[in-house]
Amino acid sequence: MRIPEDKIEDVRAATDILSVVQGYVALKRRGQNYFGLCPFHSDTAPSFAVNPARQIFRCFGCGRGGNVFGFVMEVERISFVEAVRMLAERAGIELPAVSASERDTVSESEELVRANGMARDFFHKQLMESQSPGAIEARRYLAERGYGKTVIEHFLLGYAPDSWDSLVQFAKQAGLAPSILTQAGLLKEGKEKNRPYDAFRHRVMFPIRNLAGRVIAFGGRRLREEEEAKYINSPETAVYRKGRELFGLWEARQDIRTRDEAILVEGYTDCLSLVMAGVTITVASLGTALTEQQARLLKRFTDKVFILYDGDNAGLSAARRAIDVLIAAGAKPRVIVLPGTEDPDSFVRKNGGDAIWQLRETAFSPVDFQLHLAKRNQVPPADAARELVNTAVLIASPVEQDIFLREISARTAVSADALRRELSRVRVPGQIPEEKSARTTWPPKGTLTALTRVLVRRTDLRPVIFEKWSPQNIADAKLAELLNVLYEEWQSNAIKEPEKLLDRFPDSPLREFLAGCLYETEDEEDEERGLEIDRRTALDCLRGLEADGLRVEIAELKQKLVASPNEPQLLRELQNLMRREKNLRIHGQDI
Ligand SMILES: [Zn+2]
Repeated sequence: MRIPEDKIEDVRAATDILSVVQGYVALKRRGQNYFGLCPFHSDTAPSFAVNPARQIFRCFGCGRGGNVFGFVMEVERISFVEAVRMLAERAGIELPAVSASERDTVSESEELVRANGMARDFFHKQLMESQSPGAIEARRYLAERGYGKTVIEHFLLGYAPDSWDSLVQFAKQAGLAPSILTQAGLLKEGKEKNRPYDAFRHRVMFPIRNLAGRVIAFGGRRLREEEEAKYINSPETAVYRKGRELFGLWEARQDIRTRDEAILVEGYTDCLSLVMAGVTITVASLGTALTEQQARLLKRFTDKVFILYDGDNAGLSAARRAIDVLIAAGAKPRVIVLPGTEDPDSFVRKNGGDAIWQLRETAFSPVDFQLHLAKRNQVPPADAARELVNTAVLIASPVEQDIFLREISARTAVSADALRRELSRVRVPGQIPEEKSARTTWPPKGTLTALTRVLVRRTDLRPVIFEKWSPQNIADAKLAELLNVLYEEWQSNAIKEPEKLLDRFPDSPLREFLAGCLYETEDEEDEERGLEIDRRTALDCLRGLEADGLRVEIAELKQKLVASPNEPQLLRELQNLMRREKNLRIHGQDI
């Protein structure tokens, strides 16, 4: 499926990379760039940069880069065409419709997201409009808990009917292949083949959205108390991986960013109740223990995370674990401890949202929380101090780590020195592994790559270089592909802005290489000096390449001379070549 180039152009022109990226990452301005934590690797220092003037992004940590299409492709794990479509929709630009034959090329991810979206509409409509006894019961359940229309609409809650084939029938009418709903975990394969049935029955449905606001999974709460599982969730699919998403993050992300703080709860209903009470910075870890990925996801929006779990023992120990996970992700967690065995849902119901905002003011630091636990469980302070050293190990910054140790020392009367000695004894746990990939082995280091960088960046130097040199016999296929495009542009007198190249190579790693080239920090103060440096680099590279060529020829000639040592012609030729090679090396001649 091809989208006409001028349409792609339209979409790009109507889209600002900054506002798209800000939907996923909190960015702070520094000079001409905006920096934030990279969404693609476990980033602790902001190494992810967006340049609005050039409309490109680049991560100095993992090397990912590109334009707005590339960003959406990476972050949503979708194809180039899908990324263009998504941004077109966002910008209100109509693209040619997908024909039936082309539908095959739509990726599995896109199909799954579409199917989940249609199911969400179905469940939502059931909840809002259906007169079936089940739907009435669902509405009553939500009303009893105080969930009004606003919160239902906000989270697009739904109702899965008390039936084995409601969704099956809906899929039939909507022309949706049952197989894709089965893949999404919304239908289950029946005993007889081709007789799928509804996986969620008589449940309140909580759609889980990704950061693009699209539904990727559901949580379903039982309405029949005798039903075994209180909650069931969609299984893992190509678009939904357990422990990687936070319920409510899409809805809360703007407020979290502006207030620069977030509240983390465990369950759907805790999240709903807090948001309803005006605590609109709340996200839930979807009923599982907080994972590293979830902590990093949240850290992309704010450092300040308030853990608000149940007040019982299970809640307290879950909070203790969450502290470590958040600290390891580079966040600064604090814990709001609820009185008694209260849970966030019941507490906010009785006391309102203001009480939560107030409790947040007096939230426990990790050190205070540990001591609170120690007191509760009658553990000696020295043991608590040791526990805390295990947490201190997780702090990446030596300065922050030192501050943390001092706080332990001040609160437990164990000397900071002893704590430091203890710290050095504690084995440093394995760092969160970076996602390693082939991107580190390409491009090859060397002259040709350096020359290509200049060629990409400096359209004004391309004529100077190509008049002396043309890309021939390039061993690296990807560099050859790129260099040929650049050469053709020059030959046909059609040199385009370098940013445009990004669309020619939508698939990494060439795209990332290009973004890297465009992002190389130029001397912004002194444009002329930057140009001169690049010019010299280019000439050095050309000399280097020529010298490389000569050395190959010299080696070949030497081989020939071994075979026939008494050829004066060959010897003269060799001497000639060696002289040229030496001149190149010493004087930089021959250019
Ligand atoms: Zn990165």
